[in-house]
Amino acid sequence: MEEKSYSRNIPVIIQNALWAISAGRCEICGKKIYIEEKTNTLVNLAQKAHIHAFSQQGPRYSKSQSNPHVLDNLMLLCMEDHKLIDDHPDLYTAEILKKQKSEFEAKVSAVVDTQRSKSSILFFRGGITEHDTIKQELSELSPVLLNNGDFFNGKYYSILVDILGIPHDEVYFSIAKQTIKKQINEIKPSLKDSGCVSVFGLAPSPLLVYLGFLLNDESNIKVYQRFREGTLKWDWKTENQTNEFLVEQLILRVDSENEVNIILSISAEIAYERVKGKQPNHTLPTFVIRAKRQAFDAVSSEIDADIFIKKFRENLIEKIRIEFPNVKVINFFMAAPVSILIKIGMNYQKNVDVEWRLFDQQQKLGFINALSIKGDD
Ligand SMILES: [Zn+2]
Repeated sequence: MEEKSYSRNIPVIIQNALWAISAGRCEICGKKIYIEEKTNTLVNLAQKAHIHAFSQQGPRYSKSQSNPHVLDNLMLLCMEDHKLIDDHPDLYTAEILKKQKSEFEAKVSAVVDTQRSKSSILFFRGGITEHDTIKQELSELSPVLLNNGDFFNGKYYSILVDILGIPHDEVYFSIAKQTIKKQINEIKPSLKDSGCVSVFGLAPSPLLVYLGFLLNDESNIKVYQRFREGTLKWDWKTENQTNEFLVEQLILRVDSENEVNIILSISAEIAYERVKGKQPNHTLPTFVIRAKRQAFDAVSSEIDADIFIKKFRENLIEKIRIEFPNVKVINFFMAAPVSILIKIGMNYQKNVDVEWRLFDQQQKLGFINALSIKGDD
């Protein structure tokens, strides 16, 4: 057939560009034309259709189209739609086809070019216990970004607070705090240059909150969560909401107007007695924010994390500010996933919030006073 003979003459470089610019789909119906979807086998169902025909007798022939084998004059189509447009050139005019082509190709490029951001990686690691060894999982991090519509821009920042040989006491946390602050300050100017900074953290809870605090004037932070199963252990499990968070005031009686306790029972329940044991001489107003489903994966999606933070700010921190205007310190007792610990720190409002005193939960000692964040410090 005549049509096939000139189709074969389309230069390979033009054919390749046509496949690329259309993302391998029929530019009219959007169907994939490189795969038989029912059987999942690779095929070539593509027809390279001319808007202005090659031959004088062909559809939409135009003398002004001197070379028909150019990208602007070609559409990648399925067989059905190729037949449709060539059988009805009165309906499928050159103007209509050109409009369809340019809209389709603009859609493809919008998805690929603009919705993907270039992300640098900030990997933060601190010893979880005195003796743990955390496997290097860096090779896993950039595929996680791709899975989420971003890609790694080659900038990798590592913040390590491995202080070996000392227990996780107040001295440890004081050194760790200074170490993190120094390292973040060093990389801050280049963090600002990144379109997006994806944060992967693994450290004792107070250090994760403090990291968030140091990053809380950055607008381009994405926080990830590590899970215990799956090939990509760092990737979000779902895009959907999987949990709810409820705020409850446990202790109403007030001995002191100056302090309030917040218990985060998210990944596990923290019994009030363990908090009270650290405060034998007075009884403080105590709030708990609890996950309906308490588990290591209590926060399985970015939506879960966002819902948590909204509840935390509106139903907890703001409520305390209104109901306890004399409070100077909020004590935090935390059993919560990494992502929301970092986000809590990012949520601290330097000009508004009182001192947050962060306790670390330890196997032998129970809770210890680890570090505070206050104002700009
Ligand atoms: Zn089609």
